[in-house]
Amino acid sequence: MTIIHDFDQKCPVCGKLSPQPMLTSTNAMDYPDLDMRPAEMQRSTMHTWVLECPHCGYAGNFRNETQITEDFLKSDSYQTCDGMEFIGKLSKRFYKAYLISKESEDLTKCFFNLLHCAWDCDDKNDPNATKIRKLAVEHIDKLEYDESERKNFLAIKADLLRRSGEFDRLIEEFSDIIIGEEIYDDIIQFQIKKALKKDTECYTVGDVKNQHKT
Ligand SMILES: [Zn+2]
Repeated sequence: MTIIHDFDQKCPVCGKLSPQPMLTSTNAMDYPDLDMRPAEMQRSTMHTWVLECPHCGYAGNFRNETQITEDFLKSDSYQTCDGMEFIGKLSKRFYKAYLISKESEDLTKCFFNLLHCAWDCDDKNDPNATKIRKLAVEHIDKLEYDESERKNFLAIKADLLRRSGEFDRLIEEFSDIIIGEEIYDDIIQFQIKKALKKDTECYTVGDVKNQHKT
């Protein structure tokens, strides 16, 4: 089960305290989506992943120090999310956390904040999800990661491309990729099959596994 408690935490930019949700326990009962978005109950804990200061507007991690200044938080691009009009408050918060990661030159955080922003856009039926996924794809090729994580990043990339309608690019980039691990190769074949049908729907790892049963 999910347990979330509010604790007063100090903002790393303005130094003021505010009550912030802290996740002490959660679980995922089912297969993740093909972009690794966890199933419930973990799926509904996103508001604890990035915190937002009600005093200065900083969005991000409250545990570490940051070079971000209050002037940066007052900038037009931060205040308006680069002019993106999101439906959800949480989508906006993840986008702001993305802008902060970009300013801090942390590419991995940039990527994950965009991915999480897209997930919240999905929940709110916000058409910005497509644009955010395209932006996330621009970041994924620049990331440095351990060889053992390559299969996960490739799987996420295939899903980002299909769900943002980049069907031809997905088919072109992934047709010759062999990961050598059955489930990942099945996922990629599944993505190519759906791309050929121009299908942008959300599927889970369970959908890939179950296709063999039919
Ligand atoms: Zn603050």
